[in-house]
This record gives sequence, C-alpha cells and structure tokens, in this order.
Amino acid sequence: MSDCLFCKIIAGEIPGAKVYEDDEVFAFRDINPEAPVHILVTPKAHIESVDDIHGRDEAHFVAKIFEAIPKIAKSEGLVSGYRVIANNGPDAHQSVRHLHFHVLGGCDLGAKVL
Ligand code: 5GP
Ligand code: ZN
Repeated sequence: MSDCLFCKIIAGEIPGAKVYEDDEVFAFRDINPEAPVHILVTPKAHIESVDDIHGRDEAHFVAKIFEAIPKIAKSEGLVSGYRVIANNGPDAHQSVRHLHFHVLGGCDLGAKVL
C-alpha cells in the first residue's frame, strides 16, 4: 500500500534496520526501542491489524511470522526468553496500521504483560 510507513520500509523506500527477511516476512528494529532488543516482525503483504486476519492467505502469513520469530530471537541471542506483543486498535494504541508483532527481550521483562 503506497501510503503505509511499514510498506515503505519493506520496499526499501525508507531506511529500516532489517534483521530478517524471507519471501513473506520482514523484520526490523523498532526506531524507539522499549527493551534492549525490540524488533517488529511484519508480513510483507499489507494487512492492517489482527482484526484483518481471516482467510487462508492471512493465516499463512501469520504462521510464517511465527516460524520466523524463534529464528530471529535465536540470532539476537535471546536465549532466556522474549515477549511477543501485537497492539490492535485504539485501546491498544496501535499506531501503524500494518500488522506487526513486537519481539522484546534482552533483559528481565517483568512478570506482568503491562
Ligand atoms: P504500534 O504502536 O503500532 O504497536 O507500534 C508501532 C511501532 O513502530 C512503535 O513501537 C514505533 O516506535 C515504531 N515505529 C514508528 N515509526 C517507525 C519508523 O519509521 N521506523 C521504525 N523502525 N520503527 C518505527
Ligand atoms: Zn503496509
């Protein structure tokens, strides 16, 4: 989608610190990290949010994302764990309307999600 920030990063039109790429998945460092390791893992295809995951294609992209996440975590040295978060909609303050999963780690993230 031409107007989407993450589509532009995936296309290389805007710089992004890429950490992983395959045919369907793209991952890059969050510009404003909230943990020592903070990576955003996205489908290359423009899907707006968790609400828009329906049908075989979207489910396939999400499966590919969750296959990629452990590989990324391993390559980042997250041997003692990490957290995966997807913000969806206004109450969760989703600020970029291109589906992405935050992978956070590199320290003790605390016992609570929030
Ligand atoms: P959300 O709030 O939608 O779940 O997360 C969006 C994330 O994208 C935020 O953590 C924010 O720091 C990150 N972000 C926003 N703009 C950019 C950018 O231009 N480059 C990168 N690498 N991350 C960005
Ligand atoms: Zn997009």
